[in-house]
Amino acid sequence: MPELPEVETTRRKIEPLLRGRTILHVEHDAPHKYRDTHLAVGRRVTGLSRRGKYLMLNLAPQEAEEGPHDLEFIVHLGMTGGFRLEGGRHTRVTIRTDGGDLFFDDPRRFGKMAVVRPGEYAGMPTLAAMGPEPLSEDFREEGFAALAAQAGAVKPWLLSQKPVSGVGNIYADESLWQAGLHPAQSHLTREEAVRLYAAVRDVMGRAVEAGGSSLGSGAGNYRQHDGLSGLFQHSHAVYGRGGEPCPRCGTTIEKTVLAQRGTHHCPQCQPLRRPEGRAKGGRA
Ligand SMILES: [Zn+2]
Repeated sequence: MPELPEVETTRRKIEPLLRGRTILHVEHDAPHKYRDTHLAVGRRVTGLSRRGKYLMLNLAPQEAEEGPHDLEFIVHLGMTGGFRLEGGRHTRVTIRTDGGDLFFDDPRRFGKMAVVRPGEYAGMPTLAAMGPEPLSEDFREEGFAALAAQAGAVKPWLLSQKPVSGVGNIYADESLWQAGLHPAQSHLTREEAVRLYAAVRDVMGRAVEAGGSSLGSGAGNYRQHDGLSGLFQHSHAVYGRGGEPCPRCGTTIEKTVLAQRGTHHCPQCQPLRRPEGRAKGGRA
């Protein structure tokens, strides 16, 4: 599933293809999945932005319009969505512009699009409640630690997108391993939250640099839009490595299920701390 680094890589790749272009037509046959896309027709794309795992094409007002009527063309890639330069068997949406066509392929059809007034996300509760971007200055250690002290199991809390946006299953597992925290740990101490804050920023930053992760055909099929694979999967310490030795201590990495998500952790490096604050296992 594309996570923040993959979506950011997609944004960087397709922005040069769309910026300054006028949308001539948006073709699809699923108006309940791709809502109000007709509103984009005749509008120029002024840029591409991103919030968490959502891409936004920023659309200028039409020339004949009075007053400010910017719109946002929101794209969620879902499990398997991605943009291509040529149409194919799994093309669901074709965006025709005065500079050429762009094709949205989505084999499993979980992707969604909608054209809305900027900031009007009432139909998209996850987007409306989304926390700060992990690599932005809005993501602050103090605020994160205060929220973490109140939170339940830390991994589902990270995946909620509320404390910080864009952290999905892969990067949650990697960040928790780096911070030495058990995925089910609740009510983080300040010191634990500070470690996790630093780990999230580091992991997300490295993943964006590497162009995201690409997974084998069984687990998903994210590819950059030009067909190149992201490289970050070569840096995974625990994700997808159940039964292999932990790169830090050599203990066998466990794969479990937490809140319906496959979860990987090292029982030695990431012990579950008892409520009294004393760790089980070897870490003092
Ligand atoms: Zn370990």
